[in-house]
Amino acid sequence: MEINVDSVSFAYNSTPVLNNISFTVQKGEFIGIVGPNGAGKTTILKLIQKLLKPKSGKIQIRERSLKGMKLEDIAKTIGYIPQTELTQFPTSVFNTILMGRKPHFSWGPTENDLEIVSSIILNLGLKDLSLRNINEMSGGQRQKVIIGRVFAQDPDILLLDEPTANLDLHHQLEILDLLKDLSKRGKTVVMAIHDLNLALKYCDKFIMVHDHQIYACGGREIFTQAIIKKVFQVKVSIFHDDNGGIFLIPIQNSKAKKNVHHELVNAAPKGSTNKQGEMDAVN
Ligand code: ADP
Repeated sequence: MEINVDSVSFAYNSTPVLNNISFTVQKGEFIGIVGPNGAGKTTILKLIQKLLKPKSGKIQIRERSLKGMKLEDIAKTIGYIPQTELTQFPTSVFNTILMGRKPHFSWGPTENDLEIVSSIILNLGLKDLSLRNINEMSGGQRQKVIIGRVFAQDPDILLLDEPTANLDLHHQLEILDLLKDLSKRGKTVVMAIHDLNLALKYCDKFIMVHDHQIYACGGREIFTQAIIKKVFQVKVSIFHDDNGGIFLIPIQNSKAKKNVHHELVNAAPKGSTNKQGEMDAVN
């Protein structure tokens, strides 16, 4: 077992955020943490990265208590990509990715470290930008560099907080394809993500956070109309495609006027399967 979160509660000062949550993550799984704003997704990632300490309960990483792990050990095992990373110093793409090797240095980078960084830069298609200051890049390019840094760190577990926020569709898919590829090669990926359809497309398992708790946990079957309405306050239609994929179309904010429903139903994608029994009833 890669991650074991056991009966963990957490509060910022006296404000409770997580109440007795438990879940486990196995090696190679690609997990999506979903839930409305403020549900506690980022807090869960920070607890696993030991940036925050549980008020009660315990977290184990590969059967070892996180409490007893040194920061250097955590950096070798877990790579964390926060939601927004402020870059205070102008740094090149190459140097940023090289920083990922730091947990593996003793005195400084070796030839091997430099080769690893060069090959990541090539694989990510960043060769022409390798000397560019990362503050002078687009959000999508910069996100790729940050992901490249985690590749260089080469941890077995990756924690990502909204890695696709603010990216166009092309870059969203590019980054999620890279992460999917890593999970297929045995890395464990845990990502907080707002976009439920992207989560459904890429993740194997989902942790849905609501009301300070894990409201649902499991495979795609947890995405029912009733659960989404309860957690996100939105009515959705659920479509199944021929490849076993499912996707959601928001129909109505459960507090909004009824006519929004008709506009969105008519706007449903033409190629989608909409057979009797495959689409959950809207009302
Ligand atoms: P999510 O990632 O699901 O949007 P967060 O984990 O960021 O949620 O936040 C969960 C709750 O904790 C929210 O109500 C948020 O306002 C609160 N919170 C987050 N960070 C802090 C902090 N540093 N101090 C006090 N409250 C915080």
